Amino acid sequence: MIDIKNVSKWYGSFQVLTDCTTSIKKGEVVVVCGPSGSGKSTLIKTVNALEPIQKGDIVVDGTSIADPKTNLPKLRSRVGMVFQHFELFPHLSVTENLTLAQVKVLGRNVDDAKTRGLKMLDRVGLMAHKDKFPGQLSGGQQQRVAIARALSMDPIVMLFDEPTSALDPEMVGEVLDVMVQLANEGMTMMCVTHEMGFARKVSHRVIFMDAGKIIEDCTKEEFFGRPEARSPRAKEFLSKIL
Ligand code: ADP
Ligand code: MG
Repeated sequence: MIDIKNVSKWYGSFQVLTDCTTSIKKGEVVVVCGPSGSGKSTLIKTVNALEPIQKGDIVVDGTSIADPKTNLPKLRSRVGMVFQHFELFPHLSVTENLTLAQVKVLGRNVDDAKTRGLKMLDRVGLMAHKDKFPGQLSGGQQQRVAIARALSMDPIVMLFDEPTSALDPEMVGEVLDVMVQLANEGMTMMCVTHEMGFARKVSHRVIFMDAGKIIEDCTKEEFFGRPEARSPRAKEFLSKIL
């Protein structure tokens, strides 16, 4: 589903990603972790070409992001992305937030978009809030709306970049529950997160990054079960979180 091939990227003269290679199969849930500044957000943003790469290629469901013929807006519309900050439109109601991109990007008619959006809102348990504005919802509720909005676009894969790290602790669980449910339903997911409980429970694989490189890419059983077999940086990371 996602093939990341020898990806390198620079911000000016600073090399942020160095020769990153991995792939994610359909239905696989991959957790990306590593210290702050190691390039996790940058890597995940390259997958839907929100950040350009200078070397290598990424192929999403058969479409190469490096191919100049690729229609990037079309590709992006199929890749759901949920960020740390919910980035809902504050001046639009929940329902309007759910329908806007469906109408503008996918060309759906308003009624179909609304039906689809509300179905996804129901899935994240927030139907009762459909007419509210983002500012009237808690952080956890806003993040669940952001997930419902991404799902409304019928994504083939969902990318998450620390979706719970800006939330008050008591709201982390409700967002993780939605992610667990998605994972159990077979959604292909690439999740940057420090929630190791989530990683242990539902991920299939763990990627550990350090200084712009993928230095571990293994099953969760290997990652959590055999820390002694990990690289020194991953071992140090694990010793702090386990
Ligand atoms: P992580 O998500 O693992 O914390 P990031 O991908 O956000 O890491 O950042 C990796 C490195 O790239 C950091 O050193 C960060 O300061 C740098 N960086 C991120 N975005 C930019 C940018 N737009 N311009 C220049 N440097 C950046
Ligand atoms: Mg980040």
